[in-house]
Amino acid sequence: MTEAPRTEAPMTEAPGEPIDEAAIEAGRRLFAGECRFTAGATEPAALPPIELPEAAFAGRSNVGKSSLLNALTGRRALARVSHTPGRTQQINFFSLGDRLALVDLPGYGYAQVSKRKARDWRGLTELYLKGRPTLRRVLLLIDARHGLKPSDRAIMTLLDGAAQSYQILLTKADELKPDALEATAAAVAREAARHPAAYPEVLATSAVTGLGIPALRAELARLASPDPLRSGTGALE
Ligand code: GDP
Repeated sequence: MTEAPRTEAPMTEAPGEPIDEAAIEAGRRLFAGECRFTAGATEPAALPPIELPEAAFAGRSNVGKSSLLNALTGRRALARVSHTPGRTQQINFFSLGDRLALVDLPGYGYAQVSKRKARDWRGLTELYLKGRPTLRRVLLLIDARHGLKPSDRAIMTLLDGAAQSYQILLTKADELKPDALEATAAAVAREAARHPAAYPEVLATSAVTGLGIPALRAELARLASPDPLRSGTGALE
């Protein structure tokens, strides 16, 4: 079998089929289009109706989630880069051209989060993660400098229990030398392989250098509803 051309180093390859140029282009197109805030929910009753396929971003406070969302969408302040970790317990929904919703989950695991906030997190975010039929994938962000922490492992166990598929992304990859990044990615991938709902592959990203961003866009485009202007299976049919 001939291998499709790689656009990233093997370690940064996304799961599923090899990322080829067509997939990268599909991702670029999806993210070049409209991206708008559609809803913010601070309690379960305020979650928006089930509509688009969804990809949710989860991670410890300060992991670099806002920066990654901004880098992905090319918008500077889509998700405000917050310097008050753990402040808002709100789930934010963004629609990409009415084909895919990006869902920004509240950060977890920060020491300064009060017991009440931790309870709110569980009430809202756990409920969302466990029971959202349109949630196609959770992107679990891990700081490349720190690797997996107990609070990350708790989320992985929760997602395994809900049979909710998830993929681990390393953030701030630019902070590590290539060897150290490779070693962290391998260690995290070894651990992910033991979790039934986790993709075994780990994608390294950087909001600063753009590493992994085109591959992640391509991977997310695979979860989106078909592009009605391009696809024979789209809404125009
Ligand atoms: P959030 O709390 O998960 O939304 O994290 P933020 O996006 O607010 O980022 C937390 C801190 O990490 C900020 O100081 C960012 O500038 C920094 N940061 C975020 N992404 C990167 C990255 O890719 N590389 C580096 N070097 N720093 C980053």
